[in-house]
Amino acid sequence: MRLGSANLDRLPPAIRRPAYDRSRVTPGIVHLGLGAFHRAHQAVVVDDCLASGALSWGIVGASLRSPDTRDALAPQDHLYTVAIRAAEGTEHRVIGALLDSVVAREKPAALVERMADPAIRIVSLTVTEKGYCHTPQTGDLDERHPDVVHDLNNFDAPRSAPGFIVAALARRRAQGLAPFTVLCCDNLAANGHTVQRIVTQFAALRSKDLGKWIADAAAFPCTMVDRIVPETTDADRDAVSNALGFRDAWPVMTEPFTQWVVEDRFTAGRPDLAAAGVELVTDVKPFELMKLRLLNASHSALAYLGYLAAYETIADTMRDPHFARLAARVMEEAAVTLTMPAGTDLGAYRASLLKRFANPALHHRTWQIAMDGSQKLPQRLLGAMQDRLARGLPIATHALAVAGWMRYVTALDEQGRAIDVRDPLAAEFAGIAREAGPVAERLAPALLGVEKVFGPLGTEPRLREAVTAALGRLYRDGARRAVETLVSA
Ligand code: NAD
Repeated sequence: MRLGSANLDRLPPAIRRPAYDRSRVTPGIVHLGLGAFHRAHQAVVVDDCLASGALSWGIVGASLRSPDTRDALAPQDHLYTVAIRAAEGTEHRVIGALLDSVVAREKPAALVERMADPAIRIVSLTVTEKGYCHTPQTGDLDERHPDVVHDLNNFDAPRSAPGFIVAALARRRAQGLAPFTVLCCDNLAANGHTVQRIVTQFAALRSKDLGKWIADAAAFPCTMVDRIVPETTDADRDAVSNALGFRDAWPVMTEPFTQWVVEDRFTAGRPDLAAAGVELVTDVKPFELMKLRLLNASHSALAYLGYLAAYETIADTMRDPHFARLAARVMEEAAVTLTMPAGTDLGAYRASLLKRFANPALHHRTWQIAMDGSQKLPQRLLGAMQDRLARGLPIATHALAVAGWMRYVTALDEQGRAIDVRDPLAAEFAGIAREAGPVAERLAPALLGVEKVFGPLGTEPRLREAVTAALGRLYRDGARRAVETLVSA
């Protein structure tokens, strides 16, 4: 039998469930990008807010692409389980914060209308880095992006996240309503500022006045979000359903750790996030840089080099002591470029990351983290490299990580098998790889010339030299040996 409102009371006693009357909850948030991460992170916080009585903050989720989440969740009244996995065991919690879900492509105008409803005071997003239709290197809207071109010609039936936000804000302005707060929860650099720039640039293409109104009146707080949420597998679905005694078709898997840091700038109110464990601050930047350059950078290094070394998951990769040392080395290289947030101890933070990566109960595939590298490299690896070069410091570990990415996007692994490279620029990279062949001296400069990813940094001679040398070692020795040599030096 399927999980649903009617059988919440029949769940085993150990399963945590909504501690409030769901029938009294009304929507206050529209979330764009109803993936696993939102359901295991922000929705859990909102669930706590609802439990403390703030019943006007339920979530309506929107999928901008596939109907799979709506199709799985609608038959179970949008209830789903968060499975919190640690070496010691798994905790299960059924979340009730999601009230409804919509598939944007089926009825785009209806989603715009929902976002323009005065009851909606926050529009949050986890649409992945590429969902913002921007150039990661500059943070500007990509005006030639096919979805942007489409949305400018179909203003009331958009396709892209910026298109939906602008159309809904225009509707609110026309109705004399305050704008909702736009709460980006993706791993973009300066995410709030970046999304504000993208959205106002998009709006100005439609009308200068609208662009100005959004720039003046809407809030785009920056956030730092942290919780590891791997893709759910069929085996996970079976395990959760067994624990529940009811079938949950769409649970999410995660770890015990969770962190959400938010700038306290909301134009239309917010629930008491602090009471639910959110850190409300005036400046997210130190938290964001700490997370992108320590966690995400070492995660990407483990993902590319671990994949090439034939490790399936991050935990498998971390069991190889040379790769565990590699992750620590990426953090050491990045640390000197950071000002740690007040009250956060660098050593303890690094140690906790290494422990989290090694969590044997989380099946986080290297392939999943390797996805969309063109969108991730600038904020995860390149910023720290630039800062180290400016101080005359070596960049060997980061260079090996970038070289790992280069070897990965050639789409052929060390055994000559095809790699399923998922990236908006995958075809461009494959063309470059075909032209250059497996020769570091040709491939590295050619990929460094991709402006959208590297910008002017791609022509910096010290970076070229370090990355070309690292790629040469990867071709000569393979990832395992190259990592061992680096960390043993
Ligand atoms: P997911 O694959 O489960 O969901 C991704 C969501 O984004 C889906 O709703 C999908 O439809 C949507 N999407 C994908 N491409 C899009 C596009 N071009 N335009 C609009 N929407 C698009 O992934 P997830 O685990 O939910 O992660 C989503 C994002 O959350 C990440 O990219 C990252 O920025 C952030 N995040 C994830 C984690 C994690 O551990 N999973 C941790 C921190 C931050």
